[in-house]
Amino acid sequence: MKTVIPAWEVPAVPVAGSAARFPVRRIYCVGRNYAEHAREMGGHPEREPPFFFMKPAEAVVTDGRMAYPPMTADLQHEVELVVALACGGRDIPAAEALDCVFGYAVGLDMTRRDVQAELKAKGRSWEMGKAFDQSAPISAIAPAARIGHPQRGAITLTVNSQPRQHGDLADMIWPVADIIARLSGYVTLQPGDLIFTGTPAGVGKVERGDRLEGAVEGVGELSVAIA
Ligand code: MN
Repeated sequence: MKTVIPAWEVPAVPVAGSAARFPVRRIYCVGRNYAEHAREMGGHPEREPPFFFMKPAEAVVTDGRMAYPPMTADLQHEVELVVALACGGRDIPAAEALDCVFGYAVGLDMTRRDVQAELKAKGRSWEMGKAFDQSAPISAIAPAARIGHPQRGAITLTVNSQPRQHGDLADMIWPVADIIARLSGYVTLQPGDLIFTGTPAGVGKVERGDRLEGAVEGVGELSVAIA
């Protein structure tokens, strides 16, 4: 294709046990998918329909180093199970949804909490609190063909080796299959889409120089330094 400005490379994430990478099309995120986190954010943990927001594909960070973003004094971590889709579609039934999953990764939904809170209070879009440069550090993707579809297991985050977040995948209000089914009602999901599935309780602030280490049992680990 001839382009009027130079085209860029498609953002891509390493795949565990492979030299080939996973190309990223779009990043969807689920809000408040663990009851304890919904409570800490001042909400109600009832099984309300999940809500979604996005980050740009280019927000992925795969080299373990994230720059502290501008326009915030309250950068916070949210460790999450990430789903990588190999296929897509509209109105995907929950019973068929996992057939579309290529694999799973550990991700960080990094958040400018002060910006998010200010926008939320004004009833405005969260975008600049969530969808900024380097806001989506992610581990290598573990193929479902190798690890299966984890339904339970610890999801944890430490900052400078101190425990911060701890939960279990079994405590998701909306499991992965339900998230895919619901999201595919709003948009036609596509191969290459990533879905961040929400964070357990214990979100908190990070500073320049901190090292974040996330893990999801049976999926993998992620280590990120805030530069
Ligand atoms: Mn999140």
